[in-house]
Amino acid sequence: MQRCGTLAGVKTLPCGHVAHAATNRLCRHLLPATIDYHALLTGRGLEADYCCADCLRAAERGEAVPLVPVCEGCYARYADDEDGQFSGWHGEPGIAERPEPVGGRLLVTPLPDELGTVLDIAGVPSLGRASLGGQQRAGGSQADWLVLTADARLVLFDPASGTCEEIATDVLTPEADERPWVRRVFRHRLHVSDDGRFAAVVNDRGHHGRVVDLGTGRVTMTLHGGDYHPEEVPFSLAFTVHAGRTVVVHRTDWNRLDVSDPATGERLTPPGREGGYQDYFHGALYPSPTGRWLADDGWVWAPCGLVTAWEMTAWLGAGPPESADRGNPEEPGDGLSVQDLCQRWYGWNQPMCWIADDLFAVGGIGDDEERLLAGVRIFDLAAGTEVRAFAGPRGPLFGVGRRLYAAAPAGLEIWDPFTGHRTGRVPGFVPTALHRAAQEFAAVDGRRLLRLSIAAQP
Ligand SMILES: [Zn+2]
Ligand SMILES: [Zn+2]
Repeated sequence: MQRCGTLAGVKTLPCGHVAHAATNRLCRHLLPATIDYHALLTGRGLEADYCCADCLRAAERGEAVPLVPVCEGCYARYADDEDGQFSGWHGEPGIAERPEPVGGRLLVTPLPDELGTVLDIAGVPSLGRASLGGQQRAGGSQADWLVLTADARLVLFDPASGTCEEIATDVLTPEADERPWVRRVFRHRLHVSDDGRFAAVVNDRGHHGRVVDLGTGRVTMTLHGGDYHPEEVPFSLAFTVHAGRTVVVHRTDWNRLDVSDPATGERLTPPGREGGYQDYFHGALYPSPTGRWLADDGWVWAPCGLVTAWEMTAWLGAGPPESADRGNPEEPGDGLSVQDLCQRWYGWNQPMCWIADDLFAVGGIGDDEERLLAGVRIFDLAAGTEVRAFAGPRGPLFGVGRRLYAAAPAGLEIWDPFTGHRTGRVPGFVPTALHRAAQEFAAVDGRRLLRLSIAAQP
């Protein structure tokens, strides 16, 4: 016969429930009340005990916290945000290590004086050069870099030979007001299409931008992103591939994106829509590797960051613009394919990247910019769900193959996004750009270009 409150080894827990205990605990003060709570990381992945503010102060003084076991349901009331207000992470999460060879070595190339001050760099596949006068330079490496200079030029730089080739001039558009202030650092930014045929030079946290045909050096489009709070976000722009052609997605107002042919500027967004989509401020854009999805790191008033994604074919139709299937002009705001991935109070402009065509990694764990834990959340858009989260990655993110690269302040880190393990580090090398075709990371360090090849070694 079993005693009251005990069922086959299951006891009455301090929360009052006869159940198995959850892995993690609550302080006594969280049992009856639904109050603000703090997470005390246990050092096992993202596992944490929860406690009240008084207990947190005790823990910080080195005193014992009266943590008690509770049932899964009582723990989940806090973990699932039903009860209380999450007030921050404390202690250290667990980070799993599985060291693997990093592969390439760091290459250092002096930057020619003729480049002057470098504002930004972007990798350009050799393919792009085939259109330069119809000829391709002999012996050119796969790893050319396009350089945006402070005197408004686009210059192709071949680190293997040290040679420069001027592609375009007068590509910068000044802003009337370029004052940087806290969180809002204005900068000129370079984007290049995957096929290497087009570049865009835009003003992050500004109004203006230009699209340049790298074959002719001509400006094909002059962009304006609208006057309402552009200082809050990088200029929304991305090259992607739709229906077999390179297109450019760009903001034309705070709440409106359009799609254009970068060769001609022809508008490809389906007709039939006036005005904005909704009260959504578009932010940095992230096209998935095949162009199926477009993710948007925008925000809405309260303010709150809201990462969304939608399908390009639902927006533009499956065929070319002249085909019968014209898509849904309101897809980015109200379409059936739209997924709201996550939202964070006051938090947008966080690192994020695609890992695979349906897997999107968003940097920062938590729901408030001031209380984000360094780490990533991985969303599977095909399944419409968040599949995992793990602590550790910080800094700009890049997805290559089956690895997640994080340009952390202390150096590049390599993570396995399918298991959460850190598999390698390159201390001191903090890349700002990835050359996808050449599988090479790069950073400008004074008058030097630093490069690291991550291509599979022969
Ligand atoms: Zn307490
Ligand atoms: Zn309980």
